[in-house]
Formats: sequence, structure tokens, C-alpha cells
Amino acid sequence: MAPRLKRPRLEDGSTYGELQEAALDEQVGLKQPKPHEKLWYDDGSIVLATDVHLYRVHKSILAQYSTVFKDMLDIPTGDGSRADEGGIVSAERWDGLPLVRMAGDSDEDVYHLLMALYNREYHQITKPTSLPIILALLNLSTKYDIPVIRREVIQHLAIYYPSESEKWVNVHETPLFGEIYDTPKDANFQLLISARRCNAGPILPMLFYSCAIESLDTIFNHLHQLDATDLKRIISGRELLLTTWIPLFGTRVLRPQQRCKSAACSDARIRMFAHWVESCESESRKFPLAACCGGLRGIGNEEEYKKLCTFCINESTDSLDFFESTFWDVLPFIFALDEWDELNKDI
Ligand SMILES: [Zn+2]
Repeated sequence: MAPRLKRPRLEDGSTYGELQEAALDEQVGLKQPKPHEKLWYDDGSIVLATDVHLYRVHKSILAQYSTVFKDMLDIPTGDGSRADEGGIVSAERWDGLPLVRMAGDSDEDVYHLLMALYNREYHQITKPTSLPIILALLNLSTKYDIPVIRREVIQHLAIYYPSESEKWVNVHETPLFGEIYDTPKDANFQLLISARRCNAGPILPMLFYSCAIESLDTIFNHLHQLDATDLKRIISGRELLLTTWIPLFGTRVLRPQQRCKSAACSDARIRMFAHWVESCESESRKFPLAACCGGLRGIGNEEEYKKLCTFCINESTDSLDFFESTFWDVLPFIFALDEWDELNKDI
């Protein structure tokens, strides 16, 4: 094939010549969706169409998992067409089979959904996945009411954004996203936006928390993606963490106002508390959950820690447990969400 001549690029990255070609392709029908090479079953009974591909799959499989598809496919097309919240069953047919146009769904998302339905190993809770796959599965399983996939995806995300304090750990043996995928830095924000849209209650508090502890620069870089209510939740929640919960951690764990039998210990706790409060202002500050992980040793330096008496170390351990469970209970309220029990119903 002859090499193409270089053309000036337009703002969207395309060239004027390419746009002309696209218009021409539309006219002659060259841009019509093509049968997908993998998801094309010869015994399939329905064709799903995106703007890129045709997927020949099985009505019975779609109806078995999705109440939206079941309702859509149960209803006779009558006058020839019926629009639904999801796809559109039209009078169009492909090789004698009913054709459903997946209105509003990207080709990539439809591919991920169908792969998850047809291949049990495509998405597994115990294996790393990719951001596009998990977003597609969450969005489309909610849109087409596919409980088995929606539940699995939320349970997968809940390993990393848990709804129970005892499941919160700082390090995971298996990462959420595989290293072979180029996971964007704003994954937390993309997940939050999708989880909000899909009403994925159990993972919302930790997603808001994960976004709120990002730097202000990072948060403001996502202004255009967040709606006003959620932006307010993130900013107000961040403010509460900084002004209330970080100082409270220091107060509860170090008890600077209480003297013990050891003057060295009492003095060390006061100094450690002062250092903790000062560090609230710095970039290296620890937000509550990270602080809980670090415990008493994470505050101040090792020399100060050595001066603490056994009684105070034990007291601090109890206080730390109490602080962690209290913080966990109020976490949804920090972001103006419903209580955990209510959120956990949205699975
Ligand atoms: Zn002491």
C-alpha cells in the first residue's frame, strides 16, 4: 500500500483528510460494524451491534443473567421497534437474527461484558484486572441489571476499598490492577465516579477517603470530572480529616494531658504530640488509617519511643484500637454518606 501523505492535525488529533475519508466511508457504508472475530458464535441467536463490532451471542445467556435483556427480548417487537434504557431492539435483522443496537455503550465496554459472561476466567476476584475492565463491568452490569457480575465486581473492589474495618490492610498480596496494564494515576477518581453513578454503596466511603487524601493539586486536576456535590464531599471530608481526626489521633494515642509514674515518659509523650501536630501541616502527614497502621511507633522517632513506659504503651494500644473502630464507624459521615448498614445494602 502506498504510504499516506502527512496531513496537518486538528485539535482532536485527526487530520482534515481523515475526516473527509470518514465522511466518505459513512456514505458508502465502509464504517458499518463488522462481525467480531472472537465473540461470534455460529449457533448464536441474537446479534448485538456497537458502532465498531457485531457480536453474535445467545439470547438465552443474556436473558439468564440480565433482567433488562430478558424483559427486552421477551417483548414482541410489534410495530418493529422498541427502545429501552439499554439497547434498542429494532426491526433490523442480521442474517435472519434479531439485531440489538447497544445504544450509548462503547464497543470496548460491550466486549468486556460479553467476555465476562462467556469466559469465567476473564474477571476473577482473586486475580489482578485492569481499570477499563472493572469500570466496564461495573457500569454495564448496573445498566443491564446483571447481579452476578455486579456483585462480583463490587466484592472485588471491596478488597481494596473495604466496608469492614477488620478487612482494611495497607498492603495486598494481589494488586487490584495487573502490572502489564498502564493504570492511570487518577484510577481512584475514575472508580469513585463510576461507583457513584452505579450506586455501589459499600465501596464509596473508602473511595472518597482515597481521593480526599490525595494532594490538593491532584484533587483540583479532577474538577472537570466530579459533580459539585462530590467535590464538596471530598474537600469537606479532607478538611475534617486534617482539622479533627489527625489531631484526635495524636491526643488519643499519646494522651499528652495525662502524667504517668515516669516523668521521662510523660515528657516524651508531650514532645511526640507536639511533633505530631506540627506534622499535620506538612506533606508527610499521615492520614488516620495510615497512622493507625504505623501505631505508636509511627509517631515521633525511635529515641522518644524508648522513653515510654510499659503502662503507657499498653494504654496506647487500647486507645489505638478504640480510635480505629470509632474512625471506621464515622467514615461514611465524614463524606456525608449514609451509615455503613445502609451502604452495604447496595450490592
Ligand atoms: Zn508512661
